[in-house]
Amino acid sequence: MDKKYIAGVDIGGTWVRVAICTADLNEKNIKKRKIKTLKETKYSIANSVCQILSELLSEANIEQDQILGIGIATAGPLNMEKGEVFNNANLGFRVIPLKKPIKKIFPEIPIYFINDGIAGVLGIHFFEAEKDEKDNLVYISMSTGIGGGVICSGRLLLGKEGNAAEIGHALVEPKSIAKCNCGAYGCWEAYSSGTGVRNRALDAINEGNLNAEKLMLIVDNNKSKITAKEVFQAARNGDELSNKIIDDCVFYTKVGIGLVNSYYDCSSIYFGGAMMIDKDQIIPLVIEQFEKNPIKFTINHPPKIKLTKYEDEIGIRGALALIKYKLERNIIIS
Ligand SMILES: [Zn+2]
Repeated sequence: MDKKYIAGVDIGGTWVRVAICTADLNEKNIKKRKIKTLKETKYSIANSVCQILSELLSEANIEQDQILGIGIATAGPLNMEKGEVFNNANLGFRVIPLKKPIKKIFPEIPIYFINDGIAGVLGIHFFEAEKDEKDNLVYISMSTGIGGGVICSGRLLLGKEGNAAEIGHALVEPKSIAKCNCGAYGCWEAYSSGTGVRNRALDAINEGNLNAEKLMLIVDNNKSKITAKEVFQAARNGDELSNKIIDDCVFYTKVGIGLVNSYYDCSSIYFGGAMMIDKDQIIPLVIEQFEKNPIKFTINHPPKIKLTKYEDEIGIRGALALIKYKLERNIIIS
């Protein structure tokens, strides 16, 4: 009965995922479940987390005192200490309290918070990275937004509240009129995230300078049905407007990678996130750029560009790894 476990949570704009695993994080022992992110009240997310975690524990006959810690990865920005999300564009409320309501249900278990992009790089560090790339590793998530996590010189970068790698808000186009969810203009996310691709396509349709017949065919002439998925599909079909939008998505991703490598001098960058469904239209072009002519975007030696094999599960794996590293006082997070 005294076998020990670790719990992990990953809160995103679409899904809340919860997992438990034996304390050695043997991936064969990961048990996980997910639920659509509820946005009814600011406590809906915390309630979902408590409900699913309680279910997983009771189904596996695990008592609360067997859980060594709960790692909670969440879409940011995050206040790590307070356990609150603030200013988030996709979770429905300005401030979302997590620590207090979860602590009420699991009072004896230590709870730690981490920005989901930063959790991603921890997950890759523990479950996936090769030895020679672990100390200088970056994760970039291209999804609803663009987020990331950085390990530099063997240390995880956190920042004063836990949002040290909000790389999606790197300014890649000064004087841009493309508005980002954060309120600024010309962010990488405004061009290359799922939201960015959709919004830029809608802007271009309104401008009316490019042919979008093939895109409009896919959405039955209904602009409101356009998401990044349809823009990528139309680009594959040869749609002029969609190809311009995807070219921009890739171009600004090259700019973003260049900035990240110039700042952090990383050995490898792993990509993940929902947009990797269309990775074939992004990743090979980026790899080619940084293999053939990196100096166009970065002064440092270029990183290897890779994809995480854990896809949308890398955040929850990072949440589990956070607790393991806390328990063993791993130098990476000290
Ligand atoms: Zn922004």
